[in-house]
Amino acid sequence: MSGPAYDNNNIFAKVLRGEIPCNKVYEDEHTLAFEDIHPQAPVHTLVIPKGKYVSMRDFAAKGSDAELAAFVRAIGKVAAIKEVEDQGFRIIANTGVDGGQEVPHLHVHLFGGRRIGRMIAQN
Ligand code: AMP
Repeated sequence: MSGPAYDNNNIFAKVLRGEIPCNKVYEDEHTLAFEDIHPQAPVHTLVIPKGKYVSMRDFAAKGSDAELAAFVRAIGKVAAIKEVEDQGFRIIANTGVDGGQEVPHLHVHLFGGRRIGRMIAQN
């Protein structure tokens, strides 16, 4: 089982190619973080690997150790840059249909700046 193929025309692929602008928060060799275009909290930043990975499942299976390490460290760096380390934050990676994933390039949402509320909807 390899999961869905990567779509080179997804919106985050276009951001990575510089075809669509982003409000960059952090970047390194393997990872990019930028502000969500429709923020749902005072802090709402997206963290994505630069490689072509559809989901966390895909990334976990195929990503290099360096990419995986950079991604996790980038999440910590973004929390520091956005100054939510002390007060707290939530990270979410929507995956597939049941997870409500709209953009088929792995991304972690980092929310903060207010109490984020219930962990999941009840319906
Ligand atoms: P998901 O439902 O987890 O796939 O989330 C996709 C997220 O991408 C949503 O929160 C959108 O607001 C966000 N988004 C879509 N297009 C852009 C864009 N061009 N720049 C920044 N965020 C975007």
